[in-house]
Amino acid sequence: MTTKQEILETIELRQSTLKTWLSCPLMYRFRHIDKLEPAFRYPGTIHGSALHMVLKQLHDGEMDGDLRSLYIKALNHYLYASDESHIPVRWKRDMAKEIEALTKNGVEILENYRSKAYNRDAIVLFSEVPFRVKILGYLFTGTMDQCRKNVDGTISLIDFKSSKMRPNQYAIPNDLQLTLYSYALKFGEVLVDDIWVKPNMMVDSVGIYFLRGHEVYKRKVVGKEIGDEKGSPFMMTTKTIQDLRAFRHEIRAQLSAMVKPWYYPNTASCSFCTYATHCVSRNDNVPEKDAELAHELLAELKLA
Ligand code: SF4
Repeated sequence: MTTKQEILETIELRQSTLKTWLSCPLMYRFRHIDKLEPAFRYPGTIHGSALHMVLKQLHDGEMDGDLRSLYIKALNHYLYASDESHIPVRWKRDMAKEIEALTKNGVEILENYRSKAYNRDAIVLFSEVPFRVKILGYLFTGTMDQCRKNVDGTISLIDFKSSKMRPNQYAIPNDLQLTLYSYALKFGEVLVDDIWVKPNMMVDSVGIYFLRGHEVYKRKVVGKEIGDEKGSPFMMTTKTIQDLRAFRHEIRAQLSAMVKPWYYPNTASCSFCTYATHCVSRNDNVPEKDAELAHELLAELKLA
């Protein structure tokens, strides 16, 4: 694939495309241009998807539901019934034990999430809602985790994160995905009950809701007691209309790099990469035709 047009016709400009691109340009090529599947899925990723699903359900009338049962149903959906279910999960130890540990962690996070008045009393305007927005003539799509009206009347746009490590607070104001969501709420459309609507909304704050902040300490640490929660989940920032306008230029710069047909490895991401097997089997110095021929010969010798 050599031309900008071919690449543009192949990739889908989703927020996840942007996320992969920013994480490793080579991974972006494997995933979004070559359309290769990851070699495996992490249990932690499936855990995150299950938590997202239950959080939506809580605000859709299940606030006092049975968290264990909601979580297990959601986890089973991602394990066995989603469109990625055929990709193997890389369990670290015994699968049943690991599922039990994930369930315990999920229930702990969800229990502490729903115990907070600021969550129970928030009015959720959009939850896991698809969006679309044109930027410089290109259509960007994705899904927003949550947009809520807080008890003090302010409106927040929230991206739930379930990673073990707390994101860097200083990176939040420059997070392109968060700006993309804010941009879409102001200039784009969201899909509500199968109808595309234009919220034309500037939110008061946008940021990450770090779900692991609801985990509790199991051992005593300095300044904290056993059972205390790990910290505030909110990592917020603000966006002005000038920020949103400047974002168009940022997107233009990223997009022009994304459609150039060469992609550099970002080895900082390699240790966790689900594309590592695709990556190590590539050799940019050998022409594709020769590589294919070599693979065929190896296959004949039953070595490939
Ligand atoms: S193994 Fe490293 S360089 Fe290769 S795709 Fe993954 S993150 Fe990128």
